Amino acid sequence: MRFDIITIFPHLLDSYLAESLLKRAQNNNLLSINTHDIREYTNDPHKKVDSTPYGGGPGMVYQVEPVVNTLEAIPRSPKNLVILTSPRGKPFTQKMSQQLAKYDQLIFVCPRYEGIDERIKKYIDKEVSIGPYVLNGGEIAAMVMIEAISRHIPGVLGKASSLEEESFSKEGILEYPQYTRPEVFRKSRVPKVLLSGNHKNIREWRDKKSRKTTPSGQK
Ligand code: SAM
Repeated sequence: MRFDIITIFPHLLDSYLAESLLKRAQNNNLLSINTHDIREYTNDPHKKVDSTPYGGGPGMVYQVEPVVNTLEAIPRSPKNLVILTSPRGKPFTQKMSQQLAKYDQLIFVCPRYEGIDERIKKYIDKEVSIGPYVLNGGEIAAMVMIEAISRHIPGVLGKASSLEEESFSKEGILEYPQYTRPEVFRKSRVPKVLLSGNHKNIREWRDKKSRKTTPSGQK
């Protein structure tokens, strides 16, 4: 799968991509993450990509032309989707991450400042928000989505079963609590059932805990 990030800060995510599971996935040719610097596609002699908003108001707005030029320079796979990161977009969910993992290529447009000229809408397929709050730019939002989507690409996770057990995967319920060594930490003990070796009881205990932690609207 191919991911493209359209940004004015193409190196913002470098150190993260050099250290994480996504690095291994790229080395194994399971995915590629490519960044594109909008400033390379502006006709402005000072490499400006923004301007003041028509109608007045604070801040600067990304101009549509350099972003469309960048979009048009990116090679396209047959099954691609262009996503605009935006607090006004559709909320990103685990279900959406599964659906997006079926594409060959996802292109993320990542504005900053006050956002982007509304005329970009003609060139995007989906507007997505990662939550009801405002970030400084779309790069971190794109990275959050790329990471969640990549987990569904076969081979990216060590064990595919990690995905099946995970929060939101089974009927939207959250995962059960996990424990590991030592058995006792400062008088706090691992629940006995997990040490019993009785798989049926362990399954039932985990199921009960999962349902208890999941907010009622999600079950
Ligand atoms: N003026 C915009 C508003 O009030 O809706 C906020 C712009 S924000 C400072 C700059 C950029 O960060 C946005 O254009 C978007 O790309 C990104 N961004 C901010 N919050 C986001 C969120 N919750 N989800 C996805 N992208 C977000």
